[in-house]
Amino acid sequence: MASPALLRACLDVMHFTGLSHILRKQFQGMGSIFCFHHVCPGGGMAKGFAPNGKIECTSEFLSEIIHLVRKRGMETLSLADAVERIRSPQPNQKPFAVFTLDDGYKDNMIHGQPIFDQLNCPYTVFVAPKIVDGSCELWWRALEKIISANAQFKATIHGAQYDLDIRSEAQKKRAWRVLFPKLTALPQYEQRKTIHELAKKYNFDLVDYCKSIAMTWDEIRILNEDPLCTIGAHTMNHYAVAKLSTADCMYELEESRRCIERELGEKIHFFAYPYGDEPAAGLRDFQIANDLGFTASLTTRKGVVFAEHGKHLQALPRIMVSGRYQKIRYIDALVSGAPTALLNRFSKINVN
Ligand SMILES: [Zn+2]
Repeated sequence: MASPALLRACLDVMHFTGLSHILRKQFQGMGSIFCFHHVCPGGGMAKGFAPNGKIECTSEFLSEIIHLVRKRGMETLSLADAVERIRSPQPNQKPFAVFTLDDGYKDNMIHGQPIFDQLNCPYTVFVAPKIVDGSCELWWRALEKIISANAQFKATIHGAQYDLDIRSEAQKKRAWRVLFPKLTALPQYEQRKTIHELAKKYNFDLVDYCKSIAMTWDEIRILNEDPLCTIGAHTMNHYAVAKLSTADCMYELEESRRCIERELGEKIHFFAYPYGDEPAAGLRDFQIANDLGFTASLTTRKGVVFAEHGKHLQALPRIMVSGRYQKIRYIDALVSGAPTALLNRFSKINVN
């Protein structure tokens, strides 16, 4: 995979040569769906060892993106309105922009909602019930905290022994580059068992931490009263569903919807696959989402939405807004559709 620096350089070339403008007409498609996680002051801008900064963005940047897409003539639509448009496209429609946030963090409500409300911009928040009740491990955060707070990392993971000096910032970054892919690749239940063992060993309270950053059901209910807000399902336990058995995958999708419906007292129509990239969600999972009757489901496969996605509503692409790309020119290049058209070798859909 290309490094963030290389990707940023490519986006810069597209912006400064005007290439993204030239290609916009041909490649921007019906619209773009943005994927955010955390919205917080200083999001993604922390210096030093902060690898999860990539899933944070500032409220100012969120606001800038909404202004940018409108300046580019895009309509900010709710997910339901956008999906309706994908199902029955009409001639001469403006392209749309849809804003979505995954996982259900408190900062969405504290720092995100005021921006969406102030700018009258619809948004969708995908929640996972086990994150809400604190029993989802948020292993990527826990790993960061453990590396951050310790000077030595000693553990056996999936049969491999690690004894890493993690005193300096450079050593912590190096340890993250070794351990994060290792934990990502583990079978899902083993991954969670491993993070429990590490948390116990390094005295990190997984439940307390999860509860401290996740919205409670009461907070989600208040957010859901905002007419601009849609709540969607995001599995129970935030597993990469492609790595689960069919029965477990079905349970995660169906039970999360049932649980949220029970808590909110209303129907849930939309789903987002945790992680959402190719190894985390595949054809079998798109079929399961379809069989379970979700109106549409969102991946994080890179791309903009084309009319062709009308036949693939359970595998809609998104543009991940990364803390590492907080320059409005990157977003401008991305919504032109040109970078992802190149990445997808000019194929409009990427659902295999
Ligand atoms: Zn997620």
